[in-house]
Amino acid sequence: MDLTQKKLLTGGVMLVVTLVAGGLLLLVLSSPFATLAVYDVEGDVLSDQSATSADLEVWDRFNEIFPADTHPEITRFRAIDAVESGGIDGSVYASNSDRTEWELVLDTTNAYGRQELDRTIIHEFAHLLTLRTDQIPVGSSVDGCAVYAPPEGCPAQDSYLHAYFSEFWPGYTTSEFSAEEKGEGGDCAGECATRFDTGGFVTEYAATIPTEDIAESFAEWVISDGPPEGSTTQARKFEFFDRYPELVALRDQARAALGG
Ligand SMILES: [Zn+2]
Repeated sequence: MDLTQKKLLTGGVMLVVTLVAGGLLLLVLSSPFATLAVYDVEGDVLSDQSATSADLEVWDRFNEIFPADTHPEITRFRAIDAVESGGIDGSVYASNSDRTEWELVLDTTNAYGRQELDRTIIHEFAHLLTLRTDQIPVGSSVDGCAVYAPPEGCPAQDSYLHAYFSEFWPGYTTSEFSAEEKGEGGDCAGECATRFDTGGFVTEYAATIPTEDIAESFAEWVISDGPPEGSTTQARKFEFFDRYPELVALRDQARAALGG
């Protein structure tokens, strides 16, 4: 198993985003997935009773870790083959422009093992948690945003992203990101490699873009027994999540499922 082949991408990276006059955001999926099946979902139930056992198992696992009431926006589940998808084993993104409906994408071939799938589930959930409409108001403009703004819009003042980016990515905006030299396929190179060398990131992938940093840190915070040793920045990133009682509750729930 070669985990370097594995990539976690957000909807923001995989969607071709076109800004048109008036600030309307059009999201066009660029189809990076080798899709096995797409299911409509309601709560924690797949609408299609004839779902394969592999797809059902992964969907159920997601709901064990994050129960239905924590993801009311997810209306579709796409089962994919990660190896055939170029190493992508998960994603989550809004499937309409007002972000009332989201699609969850997960590998159901067990390409990288169950433990890695659990981690991917937590990582993708972090994107939903930080990009949903109570965090990034619908119609908010990326232009002039004081912190890094993902394609979904400018994070609200009281959002997780606003707090996290202000603390760990001060002064870093979308223009800084756009101006950076990128590695092949968006890999960590140039400014990203320099950033990663500071030791403040849980993975190299976390250093590529602020939204992946928070998702990667959240996943490690949920999974790990304690903060990483040797990096005060990584420890502060763990402490960041400790400040939010609702996140601690999510973490406890997820850990109970992971331990089971
Ligand atoms: Zn991600």
